Amino acid sequence: MIEFNKSQKQIQKAVRSFAKGEFEKERVLELDRTGEYPSAIHAKAAELGFIGIHFPETYSGGGLGFVEQALVAEELCAADSSFGITLTMAGYGAECILRFGSDEQKEAFLPGVVEGRTHCGAAFTEPGNGYDITKLSAVAVMKNGNYVITGRKTGVVNGLNAGFYIVLCQTDLMAQPFTSGSSLFIVEADRKGLVIENAGERLSLNMMSTANIIFDQVEIPAANLIGEAGKGYDYVQKFLAESRLLAAAQALGVARGAYERAMFHIKNREQFNRPIGVFQAVRHKIADMAAQIAVARLVTYDSAQVFDNGAGDAATASIAKMVACKAAMAVTDEAVQLLGGYGYMREYEVEHFYRDAKMLEIRDGNQYLHKDIIADAEIGKLKAGK
Ligand SMILES: Cc1cc2nc3c(=O)[nH]c(=O)nc-3n(C[C@H](O)[C@H](O)[C@H](O)COP(=O)(O)OP(=O)(O)OC[C@H]3O[C@@H](n4cnc5c(N)ncnc54)[C@H](O)[C@@H]3O)c2cc1C
Repeated sequence: MIEFNKSQKQIQKAVRSFAKGEFEKERVLELDRTGEYPSAIHAKAAELGFIGIHFPETYSGGGLGFVEQALVAEELCAADSSFGITLTMAGYGAECILRFGSDEQKEAFLPGVVEGRTHCGAAFTEPGNGYDITKLSAVAVMKNGNYVITGRKTGVVNGLNAGFYIVLCQTDLMAQPFTSGSSLFIVEADRKGLVIENAGERLSLNMMSTANIIFDQVEIPAANLIGEAGKGYDYVQKFLAESRLLAAAQALGVARGAYERAMFHIKNREQFNRPIGVFQAVRHKIADMAAQIAVARLVTYDSAQVFDNGAGDAATASIAKMVACKAAMAVTDEAVQLLGGYGYMREYEVEHFYRDAKMLEIRDGNQYLHKDIIADAEIGKLKAGK
């Protein structure tokens, strides 16, 4: 069992109490319908240090590690899946600057995200290239000392309200392998030539915008290149490993939140003159859900600790994401079922936990991609005799 230290338990308690006070059920349902962003709650979460708890204090962060970031994500998502995922994705992609950017870039872009003044969007996926970002169409060419970007990106979270984007482009069309010719850039949202369009209606998470972005000869200074040219693909893979740990923690929270609501229902709903929780079929469902959550918790925090100790790798993150997202899909599905007809109704919440779990499963790679990553690592170990 994972043992949290005193300060980690205090964080857990503080996030729980924040969510209890701020996450009103009616407000979630309203924003899910209107697609409005929860700005006031975001501002309060940032003020309490929940947006960038894992960023250094120099950039207004909490100076803590990924375990603490996972605790925040789990608690927020258990309190409400939509609010929780939306808030913990506010800076999606900003870690690319934190891990690989220059001091000037960190000073210019990170405090705004952590303090809740702006959002970050990560533009990696293209209409023609989804999980496979080894063949990019978006290009950045050097012209008079600046980079000029041309291309299209899709599915960019925070796309409509971000202050800046982290954009993956090809800078060397002749590079072999092709991935060694891609680079990562910061593009401010007000740059000329940027066309940002709503990606359209979605299954869930309507309060968090998703955009398609056209880069029509967008000129940016060379200083907006993150790290070294030609390292973009590697940086994105490392970022995705970190982001997959976040997805695991979010999925754990979503599963727990749905489970807690189902538990309340089976204890209080009476059928055939007794609470439905006494029926063996229901009890067995609860046992399965509890076991799935326990496994998701172990693997998520174990991977977070490994990451904080500097030994995190792609396979560890993929295992955490795959296991926790499978748990979230299975547990939210059972929660809807256990609430019966009520589970299908918006008012009883579990239906939007169920819809939100699907987004976590798709984002940052689905289980097939993770199986490939895990198998590559395992078979590689076998070859190396480890
Ligand atoms: C809610 C949401 C938020 C997103 N946020 C962002 C974001 O902020 N930034 C960003 O850049 N992108 C984002 N995306 C895009 C997301 O990363 C892509 O949807 C994802 O990469 C999949 O790409 P695709 O949809 O083109 O699917 P494809 O790559 O075309 O895959 C479609 C399906 O084919 C199968 N498949 C593909 N490859 C394999 C394989 N190797 N083995 C087995 N089966 C395979 C799988 O079933 C897969 O689901 C987001 C997507 C969603 C839904």
